[in-house]
Amino acid sequence: EDIVNRIAAGEVVERPASAVKELVENALDAGARRIDVTIADGGRTLIRVVDDGWGIAPAQLPLALARHATSKIDGSDLLNIHTFGFRGEALASLGAVGRLSLTSRRAGEEGAQITVNGGATTPTRPAALSGGTVVELRDLFFATPARLKFLRSDRAEAQAVADVMRRLAMAEPFVAFTLRDASGGEDRQVLRVNAETGDLFDALHGRLAAILGREFAENAVRVDAERDGFHMTGYAALPTYSRGAAVAQYLFVNNRPVRDKLLIGALKGAYADLLSRDRHPAAALFVSCDPQLVDVNVHPAKSEVRFRDPALVRGLLVSAVRHALLTAGH
Ligand code: ADP
Ligand code: MG
Repeated sequence: EDIVNRIAAGEVVERPASAVKELVENALDAGARRIDVTIADGGRTLIRVVDDGWGIAPAQLPLALARHATSKIDGSDLLNIHTFGFRGEALASLGAVGRLSLTSRRAGEEGAQITVNGGATTPTRPAALSGGTVVELRDLFFATPARLKFLRSDRAEAQAVADVMRRLAMAEPFVAFTLRDASGGEDRQVLRVNAETGDLFDALHGRLAAILGREFAENAVRVDAERDGFHMTGYAALPTYSRGAAVAQYLFVNNRPVRDKLLIGALKGAYADLLSRDRHPAAALFVSCDPQLVDVNVHPAKSEVRFRDPALVRGLLVSAVRHALLTAGH
């Protein structure tokens, strides 16, 4: 069973960045307004995620670590189960391949901690914590040395973590995020964004300025269009802004970061005659639709999506972005 668990774990957690994504998504799911992440050595030796969400009751801690245990699906969701990706797998997987400690405190309860090392769980014990949840993952893949060999340099893994954090932060502008790198006993701030206020467009604009820079934000136009149940919102940079080599394309489906060929191709198409061929469009675009119209997280660790009607989505993106660019300043 251990081996089966470890193989399954590799499906969910490919690298430190995928662990960070799962842990931060858990914090967001718990209603966190502030999420602080610390990594060391590219996330190999340490990933710590601290949130101020509603926490986990002591009695629920062992359940949180159990495979297939989730508090997020009730009977009515079962038909939609695929739209949430793999459920109840992340903590169990991380505990199978690393040393995981979960410390949490729910309002009205005592704080408690549980740990799991390479699949072996300790009993829950009391722990001091004012609220929220702290997940600490040390020695990722120590239990699966073969996995370790697939990791790239610490620098590359740290960059992948920062990229995941930037994308999650764009999708949640009302939440404050920090990312720190504690490699070699240092403590370096990699990312810090404060919670934005205002309506969603204002908040997103502020968040994009914080992450992509003032210049992007000042040269970006608002995209806002709807067709046949699909909503396309966000900001697209004017062709005059777009950079040469640097690709700044951030795409989201139902608020989850994705890397989707269809959407990237459509974005390119929208700018086709507006940019010279050596330049890339820059944009942060959010597609929202009924979960029935798209498969997200077809594979848990990858960010693929499958739209039921790709042509419709492509057409909407192209027309929404072109409309925004061509009417800018009018
Ligand atoms: P899933 O997120 O798919 O439910 P996970 O393995 O990621 O599965 O988490 C298992 C359970 O642990 C969650 O359903 C949730 O109840 C609890 N949990 C995990 N992380 C947190 C957190 N940061 N705050 C509160 N509850 C959490
Ligand atoms: Mg989860």
